[in-house]
This record gives sequence, C-alpha cells and structure tokens, in this order.
Amino acid sequence: MEARKAEAEDRTNAGAPPGIEERINLLNKRLARYVPPRETWTPAEEALFKPIDLYRVPVDEAQAMQLKAIKYTFTRHYAHNDFYHRLCDMRGITPDDLRTYDDLDIIPLIPDLTFKQHPSGADFAHWIANIYTGDLPTVVPLDITSNPTFDDVINAYNAAGLLVAYSSGTSGRHTVIPRDMRTYLTTQYSVGKQVCAMSDEIFADHTLLTMPRPTDGNLWIAKVLAHIYDMFSDLHYAMDYTISADLTLKAMTESERQGGSPASFEERMRRTAEIATKWLERYEKTTDSIRLEGAPFFIAKLMDTLEREGKHFEFGERGTIRTGGGWKISEDTRIPHADFRRRVEEVLGIPEARCHDVYAMIEITGIITTCPEGHYYHLPYTWVKPLVLDKSLMPVGYGESGRFAFLDSLAGSYPGFIITGDQVRMLEHCPACDRPGPVLEPEIQRAPSVEMRGCAEEVRRILAQDYVEAKK
Ligand SMILES: [Zn+2]
Repeated sequence: MEARKAEAEDRTNAGAPPGIEERINLLNKRLARYVPPRETWTPAEEALFKPIDLYRVPVDEAQAMQLKAIKYTFTRHYAHNDFYHRLCDMRGITPDDLRTYDDLDIIPLIPDLTFKQHPSGADFAHWIANIYTGDLPTVVPLDITSNPTFDDVINAYNAAGLLVAYSSGTSGRHTVIPRDMRTYLTTQYSVGKQVCAMSDEIFADHTLLTMPRPTDGNLWIAKVLAHIYDMFSDLHYAMDYTISADLTLKAMTESERQGGSPASFEERMRRTAEIATKWLERYEKTTDSIRLEGAPFFIAKLMDTLEREGKHFEFGERGTIRTGGGWKISEDTRIPHADFRRRVEEVLGIPEARCHDVYAMIEITGIITTCPEGHYYHLPYTWVKPLVLDKSLMPVGYGESGRFAFLDSLAGSYPGFIITGDQVRMLEHCPACDRPGPVLEPEIQRAPSVEMRGCAEEVRRILAQDYVEAKK
C-alpha cells in the first residue's frame, strides 16, 4: 500500500490520456527484465522510465529532465572516455560549464562519419575500445596473425557481454556502435515505450516482420527489435534466410550503382512477399487484429504484388502498419509518405491513422515516431535534446532547415552527442496534434556531406591519436 502510494506520487504526467496507462502497464509487465532496479536509475534513465506518456510531458519539465540527464552523461564521458575528453579539452569545455539549459549547446558534437571510419583487422578491436566509454569486458584475445574479419571482431566483443552492432549505410561502410548490456536493454525498452505512447498496437493478436531476425548476425535493425519477442503476441518473420554484413552492403551499394537490385535480392523479395501474402490471407476472414512491420520499400513491393494478383484486403481498425528504416535500398522507387499511406488504405484497407513510420538511426537511443493525427515525427524530448545546425554547424531556430543533431543522454557506452547526415526542419510543436514537444517535418533528406568533412576529419584525427597510443 505504502509502496503503491509512493509510486503514484512519483509519476510524471499522471494525467495521461485514457488508454495509454493500460498500454504502458502491459509493456512494463512484458518488458520487466529490460528495466534496471528503480533505486539504481540514473537521471537519464529517470527521464525514460518515470513519465507514463513520453510525449505529453510539459516542455519546461522535460527541459529540466534533459539538463540533469545530459549533464550527468556528459560528465561520465568526460571522465571515462579518453578520446572524448581530449575533444573537450581542444574545445575548452568541462562539465562545470553546463549550468543552464542553453549551455547544453556548447557540448562538443561528433559527426556520424566518425562511427564509420573504422580500420580493419585487429586494429578494429582497438578502435571499438576507444569509442567505448567505461570498462570493457575482458575479451577473448584475437589472434592478430589470423587477420580477423569485421564480424570476428564484433563477435569476440559480443561473446564477452557487449552488444556491438552495425547499420548498413548507403555509403558502403557500416556505422558501428558499441553498447553495454544495460544501454542495450534500455534502448529496446525505449522503442517499446515510444510505440505504446503513439498507438495501441501492443494489443495486436498477430505480428509479421519483414526484416532480419535478431539472431542473424549483428545488424542493428534486428538487434534493436529483439524485444518484440517479449512485447508482441504470435510473432512471425516473412524472411526465411539470414542476412550477413556483406550481403546488406552489397544490396545497398550495387542497387544504387547499377540502378537495379542483384538478382538474388529480387528473388528473396519475391519469396518474402509470398509468405506475407499467405499470412494476410490467413487473418482476412477472422476478427483478429494484425500488425505488419518492416521497411517501407518492402511493404510497397508487397502492395505491388498484391495489386498485380488482384488481391485486396479490408482490415480496417484491426490492422496496423509500422514502417521504419527509410527507403535506403530502393531510393529510386521512393514514394511520398502520404501516397504510401493512401495505397495502404486502398490495398490493405488499413486507415491512415493506423499507419506509423519511424525515423531512427543506430546512434540514437530509441526512435522518432510519427503521430497518428498528422504523421509528424515526434522527438523523444525528455532524454534527448534535438538540434538543427546551419552550414557552419551552429544551432538554428525552429522552422529553419538544417542538419539534424542531438544530445542523447541515454547513450552511456559511447558519446551520443552526434551530428547526423540528414537534412530536417524542426517545429516547436506539432501542427496536427496537442502533444507539446518538438517535431520534425515528414520529408527528411540526406544533407550535403561536404559541410561536415572538416569537422569529421578533426574528430577522426583525435580518435586515431588515441588509438595509436592504446596500441603501444
Ligand atoms: Zn503530432
């Protein structure tokens, strides 16, 4: 009784809209093992675990949370990450300089390119050690003479209890981020909680995924979604093959270079569509609710196939679509978001308000998800401070277009103060719904890479210097 009372008083925005509390309670039950004991929460973790509805925390309350959380995490990286400490020294910034919310803008940012510029072989193992904040687990020594592969190095760390994962990029190089187990579990919980804040899909009876399984290699898109086994009922995968790092890179780069996808890739897409079609047909005549999750290019291809075969579904309120990961593989077949949602309604009979998209990247803790009312991307503003930068990498105001950057206080195992390669426009409030926090406009594009080269080269040199010393 006492404990329950204390808990009620401790809740932030206890007056969340009806429905959300029920969703979050179910999530907390299903993902209980992802949440560390309450008495050990850091200020950053409090910003994630305490609010019931992450998107309805009053802005002034959220900014107070951000300041406390980001200052805490900045201090940690400053103290326990030699590479980041050196970068701060060069800029003349220490934790004592962060007194007010606006002071957060002086925190040294790292270009996302930094996480792509890794050496190969045994040097890659040293590189990971230098990006990482905190004590590394004892890694089974790699046989340097055997010239370990990219995946050998990652697997050695992961066998020792870390979660090192990579994303597939269009530039032909993987972005690598090391996480400790606590950061990894927290990241997964945050994805689940953000989804529950925007939709009721946690109640869906059946889920079909068109993406790699978490056990297939070290791709982040699969790893970050490992929690869905615990979060959703009756989960099925539409892909009956595994994806290696080499294969994803190949699919991304070759399809761009040649203006078409490799034949084996096309064949796999066809097989996946076949499995997905059968799955949809199984639930068409029932009253069960379904959710389909995957990359938009794949769901677009699935709809092409269905239309060609003259198939049409009427799932209505029983259906949910969640897309994420953008159009990376098939930039050439990109269709505007609104057109995509209209097609989903035409072919699958799922209303636009039940069609959700996620903007995310391996470097951030959590996701940036659309709201059902207007499909703007809502930022997780209790633990992340979002920024938009101009050409000289200085912050600009709301409504101006620029490069997206963020200060992610939940990134405890690497400095999550990052400049992305994406061009966005941030608005102070959503034009379509009453959630108080900032949003990104729906159309997000790649930013010109030339602006960031100088900054990326500077940071790369500082990191390389550290890493040469570590080898001595
Ligand atoms: Zn909104």
